[in-house]
Amino acid sequence: MTLHDAYDPNNIFAKILRGEMPSMKVYEDDVALAFMDVFPQSEGHTLVIPKQVEARNLLDMPSDYLGSYVQRVQKVARAVEAALSPDGLVVSQFNGAPAGQTVFHLHFHIIPRWEGKPLGRHASGGMATAEELEPIAKRIRAAL
Ligand code: AMP
Repeated sequence: MTLHDAYDPNNIFAKILRGEMPSMKVYEDDVALAFMDVFPQSEGHTLVIPKQVEARNLLDMPSDYLGSYVQRVQKVARAVEAALSPDGLVVSQFNGAPAGQTVFHLHFHIIPRWEGKPLGRHASGGMATAEELEPIAKRIRAAL
């Protein structure tokens, strides 16, 4: 698998975009969808994915769509900050499996951080339940 393999339309985020898989949505418009990460590295770990593009990673992303997509990343990051009042926020994005990418549809992570609270493991911690995620998602939605 290389950085430039063909886009797989059956990746899990493509299925979420088509409504074939559930997700705990916090924001959606014609450009992007944001939802809670089900293996959160911290409370409020949110993902923002672009719609209407088949981009595996940042290198694949048509540059004409990048500005509007990153605006949505900032919008959701601001809402996460307003909703949860973290001490810091990691906004991260991995390109290719050796870099840590596990789902091959472009996405940015928004990961709130609190002083003294360790970061959970990437894509391999415990799976959160809908009951755990819904109250956090509700607070983020209310801040949008
Ligand atoms: P990456 O490893 O950067 O590709 O990030 C993929 C992220 O997607 C990881 O943080 C996973 O925990 C998360 N993830 C995987 N499957 C799902 C899913 N069905 N719903 C929400 N998040 C998911």
